[in-house]
Amino acid sequence: MLQPGARIGILGGGQLGRMLAMDAARLGFDVHIFTPEDNSPAARVAAACTVAPYDDLDAVARFAAGVDAVTYEFENVPVETARKAAEHAALRPGVKALEVCQDRVTEKRFVNEAGIETTPWRAVSSAAEAEAAIEALGTPAILKTRRMGYDGKGQQVIRKASDAAAAFEALGCVACILEAFAPFTREVSVVAARSLDGQIAAYPLAENHHEGGILRTSIAPAPGADVLAGDALRIASAILEGLDYVGVLAAELFVLDDGRLWVNEIAPRVHNTGHWTMDACAVSQFEQHVRAVAGWPLGEPSPHSAARMDNLIGDDVARWQALASEPGVCLHLYGKGEAREGRKMGHVNRLSPLSS
Ligand code: AMP
Repeated sequence: MLQPGARIGILGGGQLGRMLAMDAARLGFDVHIFTPEDNSPAARVAAACTVAPYDDLDAVARFAAGVDAVTYEFENVPVETARKAAEHAALRPGVKALEVCQDRVTEKRFVNEAGIETTPWRAVSSAAEAEAAIEALGTPAILKTRRMGYDGKGQQVIRKASDAAAAFEALGCVACILEAFAPFTREVSVVAARSLDGQIAAYPLAENHHEGGILRTSIAPAPGADVLAGDALRIASAILEGLDYVGVLAAELFVLDDGRLWVNEIAPRVHNTGHWTMDACAVSQFEQHVRAVAGWPLGEPSPHSAARMDNLIGDDVARWQALASEPGVCLHLYGKGEAREGRKMGHVNRLSPLSS
């Protein structure tokens, strides 16, 4: 178990690293960020920062040797980087979570083998396979690159079977997955943690609304969360245990009209749909992750309030002054310079009493 005063290394310097670092500091830890980016949001609130590319394995080794545990704040940290860090410090979560979650096919296979449902899918590595997969799954369907997709990027919706080959080409003829269009009524997510000794804690489900592939709003607890809670916990526990996971992760879920939950994807990290916990729970997802990484007991995940979280995307952040003067608004800004279109600049939480 890490003592207050110990050093925690974080691979990644974005807003998730920043919010992890702030909660880690509150528990008495010193945070060291490793990021290729100069002047990153996380580095500006951390005790130390190494700026180097992820493939500079000597720099990774020095970074990891100087801390007591290493974690990561985004899922595309190269596996080699994570492996190198793990040679010099406890890496929590481990390499397996990255290996499984960096590839949509490996991830879907893992989820299905853990007894959890997903939309029907096929691996696709040629135009001919794209056509055969459409034949098998029907339309509409979504072709996605297996690797490096986020916020709806690297995806093509296929409405007519004859468009399959063109969709594969439009994605650059790289390895893909074809997914049948899930007939969901809404999207929710479960954010859950597993401690070093295997204790599991899940926050109530959040209901999520996207625009243009980017999360706009989360409502938590999601309407009807109590009814779905047992299933969500079963799913989260199977994933956490199957990955031998230590830390917080999120599973994005489709709710079908009969109430079944299908996993869309897993994020092996703290997640945007868990930002509401910063103000509505005694222990936020960020503190929860730090506790797990440090080998501490997990905090209580039940909220004291209901919350609505709205992302501030691009120019939305220009409203900061009005938001700051709105009573009861909890404003979180990420310290990013330029408000580019689609860039997550901050978020706001608005709390209300929990409905009984
Ligand atoms: P992803 O990048 O996989 O999280 O997908 C981004 C968004 O696209 C999801 O939040 C859904 O709204 C939608 N989506 C992704 N996969 C499917 C699917 N198989 N069926 C229906 N909608 C999907």
